[in-house]
Amino acid sequence: MTDTIFGKIIRREIPANIVYEDDEVLGFKDIAPQAPVHVLFIPKNDVIPTLDDLQPSQAHLVGKLALAAAEYARREGFAQNGYRIVMNCREDAGQTVFHIHLHLLAGAPLGHFGAA
Ligand code: AMP
Repeated sequence: MTDTIFGKIIRREIPANIVYEDDEVLGFKDIAPQAPVHVLFIPKNDVIPTLDDLQPSQAHLVGKLALAAAEYARREGFAQNGYRIVMNCREDAGQTVFHIHLHLLAGAPLGHFGAA
C-alpha cells in the first residue's frame, strides 16, 4: 500500500484536527485553509492515489466522501448558506497528496473559479 501523510493521519502517527469519522471516512481540518471552513474527507481503508485510479468497485467511496461532507455541513450549521466540494486530480489541478480526498470549503462567499 503506497503511504502518504494522510495514511499517517489515519493511523494517528501524526496529529490532525479530526472533525468527522465513520467506518469508511475520516474528516480533518486542512493545515493550510483556503476558506474559513476547509475540511478534507478521505477514505480510511483504501489508498487510491488519484480520482483517475478509482475503480468501478470503489465508486461508492466518492459518494461516502460527499455524504460525510454534507453531514458535517448540516451539523456545523452552514449547509443552508452553502459550500463547495473539490477533488484535485494530478499536476494541472495542483494535487499534492496522492490519497484521494474531497475538499469542503465554506464559511464565506467563495466566488467562481477557473483557469487564470
Ligand atoms: P491537494 O492539493 O488537493 O492534494 O490537497 C492536499 C491538501 O492537504 C492541501 O490543501 C494541504 O494543505 C493539505 N495538507 C497537507 N498536509 C496536511 C496535514 N498534515 N494536515 C492537514 N492537511 C494537510
